[in-house]
Amino acid sequence: MYTLKVEAAFEAAHRVVGYPGKCDRLHGHNWVVEAIVEGKTLDDLGMLVDFKEIKRALQDTVDMYDHRFLNEMSPFSAGLNPTAENLARIFYEALEKQPVFKRDTHLAGIRVFESPKTSVLYTKD
Ligand SMILES: [Zn+2]
Repeated sequence: MYTLKVEAAFEAAHRVVGYPGKCDRLHGHNWVVEAIVEGKTLDDLGMLVDFKEIKRALQDTVDMYDHRFLNEMSPFSAGLNPTAENLARIFYEALEKQPVFKRDTHLAGIRVFESPKTSVLYTKD
């Protein structure tokens, strides 16, 4: 089994509405998002997936949130808090639909860093 990881980043503000502390106030993060891809077979070049392709797909997935107030954007505008947990699931569900996964490769997880020391890993199970 091979495990590959690529990283993208975006900057955005949010509020964790209802949080009993300062995270309820408007603030921003330099969000870092990792996509973790797994698979057993390599292509003719010896690659699991092309780093360039998966990195572009991941950056395209997060770009719509760059320099935004996340609470005002779908699906958060409906009342879902834009926590790292919810962002990780939403990015997972968006990226897994991209046509970059070939043969037996699949998206194993998305990790969202709210800061260098705090992150959430979302996997399908
Ligand atoms: Zn925050």
